Amino acid sequence: MKIETWYQHNFESQLEGRYISLKHIKPLLEKYQDIFSISSAGTSELGNDIPKITLGKGSNKILAWSQMHGNETTCTKAIFDFFKFITNNELFKDEISHFLKNNTLVIIPILNPDGAIAYTRENANGIDLNRDAIDLSQKESVVLRNVFNEFQPHLCLNLHDQRTIYGLDNGLPATVSFLSPAADKNRSVNNSRIESMKQIVKINKILQQYIPGQVGRYDDTYNENCVGDSFQKNEVPTILFEAGHYKTDYKRETTRKFIFYSFLSLFDMIPNDKEDIDYEDYFLIPKNKTNYRDLILRDVKLDQSSNHATVVMQYEERLINGAIDFIPVVETVDDIDDIYGHYEPDPAASQFLLNSQKKK
Ligand SMILES: [Zn+2]
Repeated sequence: MKIETWYQHNFESQLEGRYISLKHIKPLLEKYQDIFSISSAGTSELGNDIPKITLGKGSNKILAWSQMHGNETTCTKAIFDFFKFITNNELFKDEISHFLKNNTLVIIPILNPDGAIAYTRENANGIDLNRDAIDLSQKESVVLRNVFNEFQPHLCLNLHDQRTIYGLDNGLPATVSFLSPAADKNRSVNNSRIESMKQIVKINKILQQYIPGQVGRYDDTYNENCVGDSFQKNEVPTILFEAGHYKTDYKRETTRKFIFYSFLSLFDMIPNDKEDIDYEDYFLIPKNKTNYRDLILRDVKLDQSSNHATVVMQYEERLINGAIDFIPVVETVDDIDDIYGHYEPDPAASQFLLNSQKKK
């Protein structure tokens, strides 16, 4: 069976959409409690549990955490897709047993459970945990640092979502972006950066088969307050994953699949041309640009005058009754020519839409 076919029929269908909190993953953790080692890594500022899952018994140690930003849930879904894959009894048996024999993988699926409930980037105190690597002012930051110090990983995976505004020079959206974070102000290419660059190059080779031209490279300006930069400074190779937008997939049910394939590639569970990896190819991955918006109405007649305008809208994500609604909000963008819309309806339809969306 091909991996695509397996995925289509076997992905973790109990997790769906953009809103994922502890409540959603708890039944799955119960399901896996006799298969993986599941414990508590600590608690959040509001006293919510931060579960930690350990699989494999190997000497190569990998630490991954998702939902450090509470509203970035795509990689969490892909983690549970990966759990289903690793417990499947029919496919890639040799690769799976090889992986479990040689690696120990520790995963924190929701590092920021309070932000996950509230669907916010920040934690309950309004702190961005990815700017708290030096201060360690928040319980969640301390939990991650303690796991890092105790486990002493050889590779870290910092799993995030990026907004729909990111695209690439080729005019395509950045469906998945990666970063080998800088370890100093000069963005020196040290050994740990080289290692994470190599892994990103490997993953990118697989992703190009599915989303050609839609993989981006995130900005590598050094910020010691960012966790990835801080770990990389400690010479532990770290990869930032940024799950992004694909076509009309606002629930990110398609992007989660590309993240899942990224995991399989990273863990050598699907055939890779490993001999052929040059870290410098990392720099050939195009840089992320902020050249996309959700909705663009071009050539719109705003009033009775004959002037035609371009109206640019971006969706605001709002948690309503346990699901995320996407509310269009008008914004102005100066350089309209360089901006693409994920959706650009024809001008006749757009006039009607505009009248119902008055700017506040
Ligand atoms: Zn993030």
